[in-house]
Amino acid sequence: MLPLERQHRIKALIQEKKSMKIAELSALLGVSEMTVHRDLKPMIDEKLVMKTFGGVTLVNAYTNQPANFEACVFCSRNANERLAYRLILSDNKNEITCCAHCGLLRHRQLGDEVIQAICPDFFMQTTISAPLAWYVMDTSIQIGCCTPQVLPFECKEHADNFVKGFGGKVYTFNEAIEVIYQKMKGHDQGCSKHH
Ligand SMILES: [Zn+2]
Ligand SMILES: [Zn+2]
Repeated sequence: MLPLERQHRIKALIQEKKSMKIAELSALLGVSEMTVHRDLKPMIDEKLVMKTFGGVTLVNAYTNQPANFEACVFCSRNANERLAYRLILSDNKNEITCCAHCGLLRHRQLGDEVIQAICPDFFMQTTISAPLAWYVMDTSIQIGCCTPQVLPFECKEHADNFVKGFGGKVYTFNEAIEVIYQKMKGHDQGCSKHH
């Protein structure tokens, strides 16, 4: 297969499946993972797909429908596109939560059922892969979703700078998921019955 042909094939596969693992693409096309990475590079540069943990996700697959009328699966608040954390599950199902606070708690509940999770970068407003993001908590400004608030950043540098200006602490995805869970454990009803 010609490289160009293969790139079209990859694009079509991602468009159909929304999310693909690099290993899957490599096996399907019979080329090395390095070749897959090279083929994906222009699509990533064009922001057609984005890099996720071990794979890629179609950028607009889950964000082109307005979230305004969707309720958070965790606390039932109206989800707002500016903060919404989306969980992509097997069989092309997906769930929406109002913000990273509920997103991380829901992610922890579902565990391995979650194939991919995406959320907006708090600073850049671009769609990012949640497991690769940095999370700021205990900052001095409250932006008005669930408390304690959790703000996702793609870049550690942006998160660090935010903390310099507004206080708080920066966590990795795995740390943030545990910290928010421990913080909420004290509240017996959880945030799901608060609203
Ligand atoms: Zn919520
Ligand atoms: Zn929320």
